[in-house]
Amino acid sequence: METDNAAAVHVAAPGRINLIGEHTDYNDGFVLPAATGLHMQFRLQANGSPGQCRCFSETLQEGVSVDLGDLQARKGSWANYAIGVLHGLSGRTGGLKGFDARFSSTLPAGAGLSSSAALECGLAFGLNALFGLGLEPAELIALCQEAEHEFAGTRCGIMDQFAATMGKKNHFILLDCRSLEHRYIPSRLGAYRLLLVNSRVTHSLAGSAYNQRRRECEEGVRWLQGRFSGIRSLRDAGMEQVESFKGEMPERLWNRCRYVVEENLRVLEAADALLASDPEKLGGLLSASHEGLRHLYEVSCPELDFLADTALSLPGVLGARMMGGGFGGCTLNLVHEDALEAVGEELKKAYKKGFGRDADPFEVTPGDGVRLLP
Ligand code: ADP
Ligand code: MG
Repeated sequence: METDNAAAVHVAAPGRINLIGEHTDYNDGFVLPAATGLHMQFRLQANGSPGQCRCFSETLQEGVSVDLGDLQARKGSWANYAIGVLHGLSGRTGGLKGFDARFSSTLPAGAGLSSSAALECGLAFGLNALFGLGLEPAELIALCQEAEHEFAGTRCGIMDQFAATMGKKNHFILLDCRSLEHRYIPSRLGAYRLLLVNSRVTHSLAGSAYNQRRRECEEGVRWLQGRFSGIRSLRDAGMEQVESFKGEMPERLWNRCRYVVEENLRVLEAADALLASDPEKLGGLLSASHEGLRHLYEVSCPELDFLADTALSLPGVLGARMMGGGFGGCTLNLVHEDALEAVGEELKKAYKKGFGRDADPFEVTPGDGVRLLP
């Protein structure tokens, strides 16, 4: 126990961006995310107790204390991400003991960069290293997703935890969310860069609408299963199969299915466009994704539409879309390197005029996944 007390582990846990493939992960489909350079930093140390776990957020200047013998969810607290991770780890191994953890973050919370996955993955990875628990990345990813489902109440797909764990500098991850087969695609954007613009809004229906979209997709699958064999999820459906329900399925449901089927195809095309270093093609796909999210999947909001539309009207912008679950957060823009600053400034100005709020533009590049720091 004394040697445990001396050991400390430092961890960097990134957020994630998603080039394209929104709301496809929980439909067993394809996504093209990357880890961000922005990350959380953890410092973890065993405290010699059998089960007293203390986590302190330096960002919020707030700590929680949890006993391994009593891992209950707490209402509306960030502690749930930590408690969920502890629950997942202790269900899989016997080696977890008391510890003290402190973390700080350069990731904006609730902006669609998945600070929640960074928190889960950083803690899980760090404790795995600190106590030599021997869990593989795939197990850590799965237990972090469970933490989000069961303790934070968001039935998220696997993308965020996968990207935060498996990210690779200057690469996107083409991930099959059913098999978890993945391929690293070099970020070949030529003279173009990725500009994120944080709208700094989060509409309150974001969480409930997310879970509702999941239910709608499940309902769409049940319709499709009534007519076609081999359909386990929307990932298995083709556009002609969805078409065959036009006018029969409720329109809202039909739109949801159409969006998911089209978005899956766009992800594969986007990976090809990256491989071919064809930013024009990629930009068109990003904008088409936004239109689908706005009109068919209906998870956008006036602020995100305004930012995407305004960006597309500016010189040097090839594509723009909302990123993440929707109803707020960031837009992702494909912008010529020479126009990066001007586009950011123009968007700030226009957004202030239109919505009286400060937008926050910043460039992002794919970074490495969760890792130990010296
Ligand atoms: P996103 O994952 O897109 O950032 P979420 O709503 O899923 O948005 O997760 C944000 C939540 O994660 C916050 O409300 C908070 O509970 C937790 N969180 C994020 N960053 C921190 C931090 N630095 N300290 C404590 N909790 C944090
Ligand atoms: Mg999140």
